[in-house]
Amino acid sequence: MRKPIIAGNWKMFKLIGDSVDTAIELRQLVTDVSHCEIIIGPVATALNAVAERMSGSNIRVAAQNCSTETEHGAHTGELCCDMLKDAGADSVIIGHSERRQFYGETDASVNQKTKAAISFGLDAIVCVGESLEQRESGQAQSVVGGQLENGLRGLTVSDMERIIVAYEPVWAIGTGKTATPEQAQEMHAYIRKVLSGAHGSEVADGVRILYGGSVKPANVSDLMANDDIDGALVGGASLEASSFAQIVKYR
Ligand code: PEP
Repeated sequence: MRKPIIAGNWKMFKLIGDSVDTAIELRQLVTDVSHCEIIIGPVATALNAVAERMSGSNIRVAAQNCSTETEHGAHTGELCCDMLKDAGADSVIIGHSERRQFYGETDASVNQKTKAAISFGLDAIVCVGESLEQRESGQAQSVVGGQLENGLRGLTVSDMERIIVAYEPVWAIGTGKTATPEQAQEMHAYIRKVLSGAHGSEVADGVRILYGGSVKPANVSDLMANDDIDGALVGGASLEASSFAQIVKYR
């Protein structure tokens, strides 16, 4: 069975002190939770401080991006996956739509970063999702299918154990518009079909597929009630420990 994952993406919010305070508050609120894995993704400067405070808890820590490079070298401003691991991350968000839209992330760089993450033993939370125009012109599945096939190209069966897919329709991120549970389930089932075609049905059955896009305490249970929705990647509503804890306790 797939253990659900509730992950928070803190984007470019919070200084170190606030990050640590939020994480500690969350730790206290979810101390008894075992029905799902919990991940928080602070800014890179706060990774180490947060990870140290989460040590021994049921909260995992993710980075929000990584370098395509696997060797240390002259790459100003980049962070190699072993540095993220050294700072305490056990996973990394790759290909978030904000990075695809504003920072030139492509399926090819997603593929390189995903392989880099796996080679250092990090789980890769690979984000895919269509824009509003693409959905309205009937291209949603072909866009998401292409992102998956290209982003995960060349991964072995054991590599795929480190993959978590996040379906995040771009039109639902930070907009207050959520995909209906039916829309989300339909795309998640399609994603599993694409994974099955590319990597085999056993692999596809094991991959956790998270939904992201304006997930809140009020809508998480309806989303989580669907067979192929294995969790949530939460932006805005993860910034406060109390609302994120309510999402974690969706049951
Ligand atoms: C996100 O940043 O991945 C996200 C889904 O944001 P929000 O929950 O704010 O829509």
